[in-house]
Amino acid sequence: MVAENAGLSEAEVEAIGRVGLSLDQADKMVENVVGLFQVPLGIATNFLIDGRELLVPMATEEPSVIAAASNGAKMALAGGGFVTSSTKPVMRALIQVTGVDDPWGARLAILSRSEEITSRANEKDPMLVSYGGGVVGVEAEVVETRKGPMVVVHLLVDCRDAMGANAVNTMAEALAPFIEEITGGRVYLRIISNLADLRLARARAVFRAGEIGGPEVVDGIVLASALAESDPYRAATHNKGIMNGVTAVTMATGNDTRAIEAGAHSYAARGGRYRSLSVYEKNRDGDLVGSIELPVAVGTVGGATRVHPVARAAVRVLGLRSADDLGRILASVGLAQNFAALRALATEGIQRGHMSLHARNVAVQAGAKGDEIEAVAAKMAAEKRINVDRARELLSEMR
Ligand code: NAD
Repeated sequence: MVAENAGLSEAEVEAIGRVGLSLDQADKMVENVVGLFQVPLGIATNFLIDGRELLVPMATEEPSVIAAASNGAKMALAGGGFVTSSTKPVMRALIQVTGVDDPWGARLAILSRSEEITSRANEKDPMLVSYGGGVVGVEAEVVETRKGPMVVVHLLVDCRDAMGANAVNTMAEALAPFIEEITGGRVYLRIISNLADLRLARARAVFRAGEIGGPEVVDGIVLASALAESDPYRAATHNKGIMNGVTAVTMATGNDTRAIEAGAHSYAARGGRYRSLSVYEKNRDGDLVGSIELPVAVGTVGGATRVHPVARAAVRVLGLRSADDLGRILASVGLAQNFAALRALATEGIQRGHMSLHARNVAVQAGAKGDEIEAVAAKMAAEKRINVDRARELLSEMR
């Protein structure tokens, strides 16, 4: 059904379902390859994003994530699904200038040469420029550190459909001598910032009170949101739940999960205190309105996205037209995932749903094989006693 829906070729279906990544391909991706480490790939359903129905590939080792995302997305359907927006795909390259006698003067010297800086940087990536990307701004700040003031130059680069790390790092490295010439200082670091606060995606959804269990559930989720907005201990777990979805789609499309995680968490702390990436409110009709905003440094060209055959097929399943599309999907999946967790927390607790899906893993841990796995898991779920000891007892009874 997925293949039919996305119009996948036979080879793409093979890539997803049977062949995957070959050892030979893996050997060209990273160093010292000795094997492959496989992670389950599932499809989240019920996603309606900006009026478009989507099947969403998710790569994750955690049970219940894909079910919860699908469930969260389903509950958004009555309210019209997810509505998204985004900024341009602008990343920051950071250049650290040390040993400057007059940092404030150096800052202005840099800013006065921004046109020349821009054209020198763009010369390094004519391909990116031909796609409508390239440098869109130059910033310079003086940062006080324990080793004295440093001038930090930011090159703002529109990366179009690339995640952009290689692209902007190349520009930053090439510019270093010119920045030294302008400032009289010494450049050390020349690298992307993963705090991609200029490359944001946003998603919003209305969850009808009647769909999600009534006014008490709405109030419970609003209270949960309020705590996550104010308490970093809660915010960390709240955001972990968001990243369950975001990282799984990032991984499935061959993107850099660490870049996405670093971006999300640093963005969550941008105001000086770590807080939630999403907010839930009750509207005039008594329905729940969820909204999320997060940095989305992902691409559909470059990195592993075009190299890994399963990632390539996943991009086709999503029908991506651009990296911007992917960013908006990430925001929507993050919100669906987060909503599903909060709804469970505000009602029966997270363990019932999670543990019944985790029961198969517990059965395997206890030594169940073949048909025994499903049978032991189902029995434990029905009894609401899901642990390895019980699984062992059931197994020995069965055998
Ligand atoms: P890349 O260099 O493989 O591809 C980007 C290039 O593709 C662009 O520079 C451009 O020349 C070309 N291109 C072709 N079509 C394009 C289009 N439509 N839009 C934009 N560019 C187009 O990859 P990248 O995206 O620059 O870098 C991503 C990789 O860098 C990832 O593998 C990531 O893991 C890695 N990386 C990350 C970090 C970090 O996050 N801190 C640091 C270093 C490297």
